Amino acid sequence: MTEAPSNRHDYFLKRFPKEPAFRLKQIEKAYFTESMTGWESVTTLGKEMREILEKEIPWMSCTPVTTLSSKTGDTHKVVLSGMDNQYFESVLMRNKRDQWTICVSSQIGCAMGCTFCATGTMGLKRSLSSDEIADQYRFWKQFLSERPELPQRISNVVFMGMGEPLVNVENVKKAIHTWLDYTDLGPTKITVSTVGVLPVLEGILTDPDWPPVRIAISLHSPEEESRRKIVPTTAPKFHERLAKWTHEYQLVHGNRRHHVTFEYTLIAGVNDNEDEAKRLVKFVKTTSAVKVNVIPLNLVAGKAFTASPQAGIEIFKNVLLKAGIDVTQRKTMGSDIAAACGQLALSIKSEGKIVG
Ligand code: SAH
Ligand code: SF4
Repeated sequence: MTEAPSNRHDYFLKRFPKEPAFRLKQIEKAYFTESMTGWESVTTLGKEMREILEKEIPWMSCTPVTTLSSKTGDTHKVVLSGMDNQYFESVLMRNKRDQWTICVSSQIGCAMGCTFCATGTMGLKRSLSSDEIADQYRFWKQFLSERPELPQRISNVVFMGMGEPLVNVENVKKAIHTWLDYTDLGPTKITVSTVGVLPVLEGILTDPDWPPVRIAISLHSPEEESRRKIVPTTAPKFHERLAKWTHEYQLVHGNRRHHVTFEYTLIAGVNDNEDEAKRLVKFVKTTSAVKVNVIPLNLVAGKAFTASPQAGIEIFKNVLLKAGIDVTQRKTMGSDIAAACGQLALSIKSEGKIVG
């Protein structure tokens, strides 16, 4: 069973079918109000209802099992136990503005099987519910409030933890709307990173409920056949369809603040040579994407892949820069606690055994 557990919202509606719609809003607001720490503090609700909720709906949909902090103190990782006691991970990283970015998971494991990604080797256990996604923000808020010496502001959220968000798009959308409604996060502070599930990307173009967040496409290769070797789920005519999609996206959502970014994980000897960079330039020029973000490969135990040397990364970046393409390089954070991109694979299993 890979479906997500149901969420609190649906349970509440079934349990209290006669309650007015604003009741749910009061409850959701309470989840994100710092002074409220459990059902007993939500005094806008009657005592009887609070008692029922206390027994039947957990205040938090996920609870921490263990937390790890990097030596520098800039990255923290938590293993959370979900509604059915299955575990998943979430990461908090200090960003350039000395605020925090949360790297959230959307699934436990992932079915996409990208060959360089630790999550991919787990297969898909299940999708997360919208509560389990939204509550990762609540967990980190609480974590920070217990550490007043740290900056308190969570300024960004990126879907770059475990899982493929567009395979769990309804719950991802619900979680994003919750943050937009009840936190100070604006849509351009939230980035959905996707391997590129084309039918879902195409659906977004006509979905009135799709929030205007940023989208990053994990490209990794300018050509279909070579991409399929590292991203086995690459669909036929992937690049052509993706290029077409970027133009349609530009028409619907595009402006300077809502651009599409391509992510490109550089793997030594696989997709990192100068020729590859030149072919990438050609492809990018057929799209409306305005930026390429290169990610140095983070090492994953048991995989033969190695990271490109920095000198090689510079050559690769320069080819793009010379062609007028905006290039950034992702800083690797938290690799000492296996919290960097693509390293989330659970060293602690749900039975409580530490395996790595
Ligand atoms: N499934 C989504 C989001 C989660 S992965 C996606 O693939 O985009 C988040 C990012 O980490 C992706 O860009 C992915 O390509 C990258 N990634 C995966 N494994 C990695 C590794 N070992 N080193 C560096 N980046 C990696
Ligand atoms: Fe899944 Fe993204 Fe990892 Fe690919 S890179 S296996 S899509 S989490």
